[in-house]
Amino acid sequence: MKKILNQNLINLIEYYSLINNNITWSNTPIIRNSNNLSTTLTFHGTKPQKLEELKKSISLVKNCDLKKSAKNLVFADGNINAKIMIIGEGPGSQEDILGTPFVGRAGKLLDKMLESIQLNREKVYISNVVNYRPPENRRPTEEEIKRYLPYLKSHIEIINPKILLLLGSTSLNAIISNEEVISQARGKWNEMKIGKANLWVIASFHPAFLMRQPQQKKMAWIDLKMIRNKIKNLKI
Ligand code: URA
Repeated sequence: MKKILNQNLINLIEYYSLINNNITWSNTPIIRNSNNLSTTLTFHGTKPQKLEELKKSISLVKNCDLKKSAKNLVFADGNINAKIMIIGEGPGSQEDILGTPFVGRAGKLLDKMLESIQLNREKVYISNVVNYRPPENRRPTEEEIKRYLPYLKSHIEIINPKILLLLGSTSLNAIISNEEVISQARGKWNEMKIGKANLWVIASFHPAFLMRQPQQKKMAWIDLKMIRNKIKNLKI
């Protein structure tokens, strides 16, 4: 009896960790997509110049509490001409110190996942939904996500990848829809337009989640193979 109860409790905890609890317990209305993905900010010049301008405008964001506790703006890593772009949630402590996304433990797992489908940081471009570390590694709030979304959309438009990989529910909710749960939405292709960029978008589990729930790695492997096939089919 005790064993069954314990298993039920474990199942319940696993179930809740798949859901964006910010939304579940929040009093504010859910933005049901919501996000106008066609309008983006305008930046000028070459790709590197546009990215520099974008970074400058993020550094000028006002009224953001994240900036008070963060050490650095964490903008991006990888190849600006990559055809695959990856979006995580937000910087952790290592990322905050170094100013580079996915350099901590989750980043090491991400590198292994990429390597398993013959990718690496020279072949992808990586950024996050928010560019400053949320204190105590909490999930960014709806307000914070909304504040950085125009910059994220512009970032995607400037990079203009063919494939966009959303890691975890924050990134899924920001770009695809707040109505989706990562366990249901992962492993499905969505054809999307963000600004002028036409992309194939897929969501998968966040590597930090996979470290807590290694039994879900088999699902992430399915998603990685889907990406490998899409790269092949698109000849990129
Ligand atoms: N987790 C993220 O979502 N992004 C990072 O950059 C690091 C950890």
